[in-house]
Amino acid sequence: MESQLDLAAALAEIARLGQNVERLQQDVARAEFNLYTVYQISKTLGGVLSMEEVLGHVTDMMAEVMTVRGCYVLLPTEDQDALTVRSWRFPMRDGDDPPPALELRESESVPEWIESLEGEALAVSDFNNSLFGRAFPDGAEQLQAAGVKIVVPLVYKKRLMGLLALEEKYTNAEFGPADFQFLSVLAPLAANAVSNAQLYEQAILDGLTRLYVVRYFRQRCREEIKRAYRYGKPVSLILWDVDHFKNINDTYGHLVGDQVLRELGHLMKHATRVDVDIVARYGGEEFVFLLPETPREGALVLAERVRRRVEQHAFTSRELSLTVSGGIAAFPVDARDYASLVARADDELFRAKRHGRNRVCVPGMTPEAVRESVPNVLPGAPPSFG
Ligand code: GH3
Ligand code: MG
Ligand code: MG
Repeated sequence: MESQLDLAAALAEIARLGQNVERLQQDVARAEFNLYTVYQISKTLGGVLSMEEVLGHVTDMMAEVMTVRGCYVLLPTEDQDALTVRSWRFPMRDGDDPPPALELRESESVPEWIESLEGEALAVSDFNNSLFGRAFPDGAEQLQAAGVKIVVPLVYKKRLMGLLALEEKYTNAEFGPADFQFLSVLAPLAANAVSNAQLYEQAILDGLTRLYVVRYFRQRCREEIKRAYRYGKPVSLILWDVDHFKNINDTYGHLVGDQVLRELGHLMKHATRVDVDIVARYGGEEFVFLLPETPREGALVLAERVRRRVEQHAFTSRELSLTVSGGIAAFPVDARDYASLVARADDELFRAKRHGRNRVCVPGMTPEAVRESVPNVLPGAPPSFG
């Protein structure tokens, strides 16, 4: 009798140990999964500095791992008072579908919500009945209308950097523990990467115009000159200065002056080749372009096009008009290093100012010859690089 009891107790003990082992195995598997996921995500996001790349990776990973119909990253608007969609993926749809026009207005309750998370990246699926609902008063309605099922906060150093938002799975399955685990790993790493990208942008972009600052421009220029030297290619530089800009400030005030500079920066950026040309704010009302693989003649065509566009543009709601003068210098014909290239372009800019402004000068040509040599390209026509 006693031995039977012993046996039963021993069997119960074995069963209990067996359960423990199973639980331990699950824990180990989960820890391995977490470690691998953390490794993969941090490897992907670790070396990336540009905001576009960070956001692209985050939406790619969400779309792939979570098997959702759509997913987005929302970031603060320029005024910092609302969150809007900045990156999105619709894995199941063709073409370039636009994201939903979400604009989640933030209330004063956002810090309270962040505090309540106690550092965890907790997913929210009930948009009304939670601190989330108080933090984003018009959030629930917009998210439901867009088909969003869960959102996950991106928190870095107790600050809300943005939100991840996910539509339903295309398998129609419910979100499970593994999904939430993945998001709880992804969110803090994504928040960290977004914060790094923001700091990097602040370091290399001018606050007023969002063009590159001159320090970054100088560094990129030196790299481009080295590359041009190695491959025997030309590089051109155009230095710009607004004509009589002091008059704008004196007549309309500095705030209007700032708005004019912002618009001018936008116009200049959009006149150049995306991801090829480098456009920077050189100083107060001075701008500079670096045009890789472009000889002097090509730079001249672009410069004349920009000069004419500025001349024709009505700035700010007051429809102000203004003009710019430009100076061009090219590697290797005019100079062979960064400092000499800028100095040579500055000489040409000075010549343009002396000859009456609203013109572009280039070494070896008279200002009159410049205007005659460049066909009167229509605004909006693509520049031809020779
Ligand atoms: P020009 O170049 O044709 O000789 O005349 P200018 O009046 O443009 O030349 P100047 O260099 O004497 O004046 C440049 C002015 O640009 C002076 C300064 O107040 C203004 N400025 C520089 N940076 C800023 C800025 O960030 N915002 C505003 N509003 N004005 C600025
Ligand atoms: Mg100036
Ligand atoms: Mg000026």
